Amino acid sequence: MHLPDRPPFALRARVLSPLAAGGIVDLPDGVIAVDANGRIDWVGSAAVWLSRAGERVEPIDVRPMVVLPGMVDLHAHLPQLPNAGLGFGLDLMTWLGRYIFPLERRFDRAEDAAQLAPAAYRAFAAAGTTTLLAYGAVYKASMDGAFRAAEEHGIRAILGKAMMDRITYDETIDPSTILDRSLLESEELIDAWHGADHGRLGYAVTPRFAVSCSAELLRESAALAARRGTWWQTHVSEDHEEIAQVARLFPTSTDYVDVYDQAGGLGPRTILAHAIHLSDRELARLVGTDTRVAHCPSSNLFLASGIMPLARYLEAGLGVGLGSDVAAGPDPSIFSVMQVGAYAQAALRTVGGETRPVLGPLEWLRLGSLDGARALGLDDRIGSVEAGKDADLIVVDPRLTASRRDLPYDAGRVEAEEVMSRLIFRAHPDMVRGAWVRGRRLEGPPGI
Ligand SMILES: [Zn+2]
Repeated sequence: MHLPDRPPFALRARVLSPLAAGGIVDLPDGVIAVDANGRIDWVGSAAVWLSRAGERVEPIDVRPMVVLPGMVDLHAHLPQLPNAGLGFGLDLMTWLGRYIFPLERRFDRAEDAAQLAPAAYRAFAAAGTTTLLAYGAVYKASMDGAFRAAEEHGIRAILGKAMMDRITYDETIDPSTILDRSLLESEELIDAWHGADHGRLGYAVTPRFAVSCSAELLRESAALAARRGTWWQTHVSEDHEEIAQVARLFPTSTDYVDVYDQAGGLGPRTILAHAIHLSDRELARLVGTDTRVAHCPSSNLFLASGIMPLARYLEAGLGVGLGSDVAAGPDPSIFSVMQVGAYAQAALRTVGGETRPVLGPLEWLRLGSLDGARALGLDDRIGSVEAGKDADLIVVDPRLTASRRDLPYDAGRVEAEEVMSRLIFRAHPDMVRGAWVRGRRLEGPPGI
């Protein structure tokens, strides 16, 4: 059987998705129809669809596969993928120096991006990610190449060249003279790529983090993002040594969040990665400014950075989605991020750091899809399988997650929560069989 490469098409499958209005849709035998423009124009039960057959297209029957919204990864580093899984337990600064900065240093030409980026996008798509917010290296040429590769591959990508003017990993660059050039190059990339392909590609102005950036760079980069209507992304409150360094470097700031606040960087177009150790004041300020956070639990445990008190943040009304943080997170799969995140929340309860109930599988699904889209301000277009949205979809084979492969799989008898529970806790590297953005099939998943 062939999965469709281009719209229009219709799939018959189990359909499982969070809904924008709350709750979920779970159609054990559903049909999803995608129009010629790559938009979802109908979702409902197969019985209804078939009763009105005639002028309608014949759906491709992929049961017992499950159609889900494509996952949204709010935080990853494209040039770091080759070192995924290396350096477990190192602290952030040691890990950056040993495994990451030398790797990013080699990602300086368009040809490097042309080699790595397509493979990276295939890996993300194979893991079920259809929207990616990622950092590049500090070089414009490779960032340009990464955008070109995203244009070609079809993944929905918001990317930004990393900006650093306090430290550098390139000995040919004097960091103290880089500010103007870095701003100019970022703006040239915005001119070239922000909003390209009707908004499928976007730019995020990307000061790496406060340790590597002057107050002026933070301020100017935030002003650039505001002026051009792009996203702004950086890291915050990841590890205790980093937090202490930021306090030394920015003595007039109240705390880490205040560094970005003083730079004019907070707001609904800003995505901060990690935010593990926020004070009550910092949390309230992020909520008050409607700043969004990328929760990266696998990265946070891999580098022993800490466990985010997710339930407390959600209760406070913080906008949170999930990030793989490849390569500090070892796996591009958002399903594996959900698994580690769920265990981390359970661990926090076990040690008495949390009394609120842990999130269930369907709540993790929402975090990894619709809430991620919402964090980007794209939830009117993507994040759930609903009529009117773009067909950013994945199809997943739940049989690969069953506890016994030799038993017959009866999709109709499994509850939605159980389907999702196994996709999280028995995630299989080949379970994502197809992925589409606007109904265009992405290279990466193996097919059926
Ligand atoms: Zn990161």
